[in-house]
Amino acid sequence: MPRIYNFNPGPSTLPLPALEKCQTEFLDYKGTGMSIVEISHRSKDFEAVLADTKALLKELFFIPDNFKIIFLGGGASLQFAMLPMNFIPTGGSADYIITGEWAQRALKEANIIARGRVAASSEDKQFTYIPSEKDLVIDPQAAYVHLTSNNTIFGTQYHAFPEVKGKFLVADMSSDILSRRVDVSKFAMIYAGAQKNLGPAGVTVVIIRDDFAATANSGLPTMLSYGTHIKGDSLYNTPPVFCIYLMQLTLQWVKEQGGLAVIEKINRQKAELLYQTIDESNGFYRGTVQPEARSWMNATLRLASEELEAEFVAEAKKAGLHGLKGHRSVGGIRVSMYNAMPLAGIEKLTDFMKQFKSKH
Ligand code: PMP
Repeated sequence: MPRIYNFNPGPSTLPLPALEKCQTEFLDYKGTGMSIVEISHRSKDFEAVLADTKALLKELFFIPDNFKIIFLGGGASLQFAMLPMNFIPTGGSADYIITGEWAQRALKEANIIARGRVAASSEDKQFTYIPSEKDLVIDPQAAYVHLTSNNTIFGTQYHAFPEVKGKFLVADMSSDILSRRVDVSKFAMIYAGAQKNLGPAGVTVVIIRDDFAATANSGLPTMLSYGTHIKGDSLYNTPPVFCIYLMQLTLQWVKEQGGLAVIEKINRQKAELLYQTIDESNGFYRGTVQPEARSWMNATLRLASEELEAEFVAEAKKAGLHGLKGHRSVGGIRVSMYNAMPLAGIEKLTDFMKQFKSKH
C-alpha cells in the first residue's frame, strides 16, 4: 500500500527516511545482534544514542550552553503538574496565559498543586487570537509565566513572544518545537511531547535553564523532581529508549534537510499556500482565527455546514489525504502540517480543495 499524506495532529507523520532507517537496523542494531529495544539503557550503544540525540537537538534548535536537555515519560501532560510542583514556592503562585485547551489543562494542574493566576486569556473570543503583550497583567510575585506557543486545537500560534517583566518564561512547545527559529535564551524552560515534530509519542523533551533549575523546590518524590533527571542525565531510571532513538533519526533527517533555516522556510511556504487557498475561496473555506495569529502547524477552517465538512473529510481521504477532521471539541477541519509533511502534501491538498469547491 502506498503511503498516504497524513495530516493527523499527533501522533503524526514522521520523515520516511527515519522510519526506513529504523526498519533497516531494527533486528540487528549496529552489529549487536539485538534490536535497540533489547539492549541495556546503560550500554555504550544506547549512551551514544542519548548523547547524539541531545547534541543534535542542541545544535539544530540553537540551545545555549546554560540549558540542560532531559528526556522524560508521561507526556507533556505530566509537565503540567511537574512544573508547578517544582517551581511554585509554598504559598506562592504562577501566571498562565490562556490561549486554548492545553493552556487550561496546564493551569488546572497548577491550581491542584498551588495557585495558578490568569495573566491574560483569549477565551472571550473562543481562543481565536493571541493576547497582546500590553494586555498581560503579570503578578510581581509570580514564580514564572507559562504560555503555549502553538495551540494545536484552535489553530493559533505566537509569532512574537512577549516580554514578561523579567519573570521566568516557560513554554509548552509541544506542537511547534523545532519548526522555526526561536530565541531559546528568552525562556527559562521549554517542554514538548515528541509526537508532532520530534518523533513518536512516549517521550517528552524538557529544555531547562540552569538559573531556573536552581530555584526548584526540594522534598519532591524523586521521579517528579527535575533535579533527579538533570543529575542522572535522563538515566535515573529506564528512559523511553525506542522513542529517543527514533527522535535521533528524526533529528538526523532535519539536519540532512539543511537544518532549521530550511525547515522553517518550507513550513512558511506550506502555511502560505494553504491560507492563500482559504482566502481566495470567496468564503467557501473560512479560516477560524485572526489572520495574524494563524498557526503554521495547525490550520483550522470551516465550510458552510457540518454535512459539507464531513463530505470534505471523506472525499479527501479517498484522495489519499487523511486526518483532516477538526478536534472533537471544536469541529470543522484541521490541517496539521508538521515538519515531516512535505510541500507536495500541501500542494495536493490545496488542489483537492479547489476541485472540491468547484464541485460544490
Ligand atoms: N500541549 C499541547 C500544545 C498539545 O498539543 C498536547 C497534545 N496534543 C499536549 C500538550 C498534551 O500532550 P501529551 O498527550 O503528550 O500529554
